[in-house]
Amino acid sequence: MNKTIPLQVVASDALYASEAKIYPRETSGIFQRLRTAAVFWLLGMFYLFPWLNWQGRQLVLFDLPARKFYVLGWVFWPQDFFYLSMLLMMAAFSLFFFTALAGRLWCGYACPQTVWTEVFLWMERWTCGNRHQQMKLDAAPWSSEKVLRKGAKQLLWVTFAVWTGFTFVGFFTPIRELSTAVMTATLSGWQLFWIGFYGLATYGNAGYLREQVCKYMCPYARFQGAMFDRQTLIIAYDEKRGEARGARGRGVPSVLTRDALPNAPVVDAAVPRLSAPEPALGDCIDCTICVQVCPTGIDIRDGLQYECIACGACIDACDNVMDKLGYPRGLIRYDTLAGLEGKPVSVLRPRVLIYAVILLVLVGAFLWSVAERVPLIVDVLRDRNALYRNAADGGIENAYTLKLMNQDQRTHHYRIQIESALPITLAAGADRVTVAAEQVVELPLTLKVAAGQAKGVNGIRIRVQSEDDAAVFYVQETRFFGPF
Ligand code: SF4
Ligand code: SF4
Repeated sequence: MNKTIPLQVVASDALYASEAKIYPRETSGIFQRLRTAAVFWLLGMFYLFPWLNWQGRQLVLFDLPARKFYVLGWVFWPQDFFYLSMLLMMAAFSLFFFTALAGRLWCGYACPQTVWTEVFLWMERWTCGNRHQQMKLDAAPWSSEKVLRKGAKQLLWVTFAVWTGFTFVGFFTPIRELSTAVMTATLSGWQLFWIGFYGLATYGNAGYLREQVCKYMCPYARFQGAMFDRQTLIIAYDEKRGEARGARGRGVPSVLTRDALPNAPVVDAAVPRLSAPEPALGDCIDCTICVQVCPTGIDIRDGLQYECIACGACIDACDNVMDKLGYPRGLIRYDTLAGLEGKPVSVLRPRVLIYAVILLVLVGAFLWSVAERVPLIVDVLRDRNALYRNAADGGIENAYTLKLMNQDQRTHHYRIQIESALPITLAAGADRVTVAAEQVVELPLTLKVAAGQAKGVNGIRIRVQSEDDAAVFYVQETRFFGPF
């Protein structure tokens, strides 16, 4: 007989448990300096580029209504989709290459989530103090000091988030016009919406969600393990050297150096380390500073974890501790799983080299194609109503429409030539046309062959040559039909 089990929701089985707030402790060292440099470089480009002009136009502007992208002096049209696909391929292979080489470099130094969170953390420290002071402030009852400090933090966060939203929209609308619209309160509904949306996303992600975006929302954290192998550089704790961890008195030498010291306790297989006065302890003094500095709140001593964004803060923190103790640096370091086991390390392995070669070829091809790009596209559309027409004098005519897109930022005068084995003449239309900068012109064209000179399908080439720049030309192939 089936028994019905009553459904109970017990507090400990709740489907949702809110995450405890992480208060990352400030640290200093080479990786912190690298991260700060990355923040200034990347955010510097983001906030500065829309304000820079090139040839009287915004240096980077994605003009969606006009369907033109202005990037560093080039104008890209929807027809230039090829370059976008090249960029996406380069981004994908960069990710493969850097992940196979040194793990989550992207996450630690270049991901927008990391970069903006870093700035929000700085603002939090300026207004609410260091880790310890922030914890104390959060635990304290509301007071005038707490209101002042928290208010100042919110003011900085909101201002920075709104400025970020404004800058983001400034990549799609000329930013000087946008700032005038802000000052005169004449922003359009869409501009207002996107400034608010992007500002809110920045505020929420960098101010509150922080490491939860990396842990629960980012797909890269889940599949990056597939790109790792035993020779990938990762940030790791040297368990052999660090364990057994524990506090100790000052002046106790490192496990790496104690054998070389006079009166050092003998450590060999016959005399277990645990029997010696202090050498039972490895180099980890269990100060937990590596955990306190971690922005995702994990303990790297528990091994490689998907939550680790490879920021290197724990390396800096532990190196500082080792320096104070007079121990060698590198208890937490970049190493490979093979290296940690004392096996040969081979970082530049075939897989990495193959990714590097593909990446170099892609970058080279992209730069070459951009440098050689001709700012002219010609589409030839045949008359859909008839394959050919019989002219009054018995000749055969084919009608076309030429669509000329002058992608250059200056006017061009073009000459139209027909390359064919047939004796083709121009029956209607012009063989010269002027197209203003960034304009599209449609030109009807009728080609004619004398009676009896063309049968069936004949391949022809239409060449459009700029008369003011020999390097600007476009050749389009099409067909000339005659009676079958
Ligand atoms: S910072 Fe270094 S010494 Fe301190 S707990 Fe972490 S690993 Fe151990
Ligand atoms: S364990 Fe934490 S502090 Fe160390 S690299 Fe990973 S995310 Fe950074």
